[in-house]
Amino acid sequence: MKRALTGKIVIATHNAGKLREMRELLAPYGVEAVSAGELGLGEPDETGADFVSNALIKARAAAAAAQLPAFADDSGLCVDALDGAPGIYSARWAGDSKDFAAAMARIEAEVTASGSPSRRAHFVSALAVVWPDGEAAVFEGKVFGDLTFPPRGKAGFGYDPCFTPDGHARTFGEMTAEEKHGIPADGSEALSHRARAFQMMARALLK
Ligand code: IMP
Repeated sequence: MKRALTGKIVIATHNAGKLREMRELLAPYGVEAVSAGELGLGEPDETGADFVSNALIKARAAAAAAQLPAFADDSGLCVDALDGAPGIYSARWAGDSKDFAAAMARIEAEVTASGSPSRRAHFVSALAVVWPDGEAAVFEGKVFGDLTFPPRGKAGFGYDPCFTPDGHARTFGEMTAEEKHGIPADGSEALSHRARAFQMMARALLK
């Protein structure tokens, strides 16, 4: 049994979309979440080769700087026809201006150019929790589905408008926050990759 998470924690993200989702997920557990941005913490270079390594880099840096348990998610969209790209480079494909319309257009263009008939893709979220003494736990959630072009919907963030999860007819961009990352009260599996990783973490660490 891992240590329980209680009291105040820092969420190691400067991404407003992720911060909003994390706060909504944590709200029912009475955990007070401050963000790395609010504490004025810097952003470490994401030099890891995979989602788990990058989540640990971000959580370790925030836990050490804030001297609080830290939470970090590293996530992205992996496209089968592109051998898993953009993957850990999902944020970087949107550039400094965070132009996700351009990033989605690049995915569409590269998938078409690949000649592959596959439109399969999945989102991954690696959620790392690191305590100030260095103890760490990692949870990985995934959701599989199809790419959708042209992108649809204005909800969510990032690549949400171009991804339709299996079993659904609407993209993440057309779903409410509750549909995308709500935690079902009956204990069944949540839909989004981040909510699934969060569910695993909550079962292990939250009371
Ligand atoms: P990072 O984890 O901060 O390195 O960035 C992950 C990037 O992946 C985000 O900036 C988004 O572009 C994309 N991404 C991750 N999760 C989601 C999601 O739930 N919806 C849409 N895009 C996402």
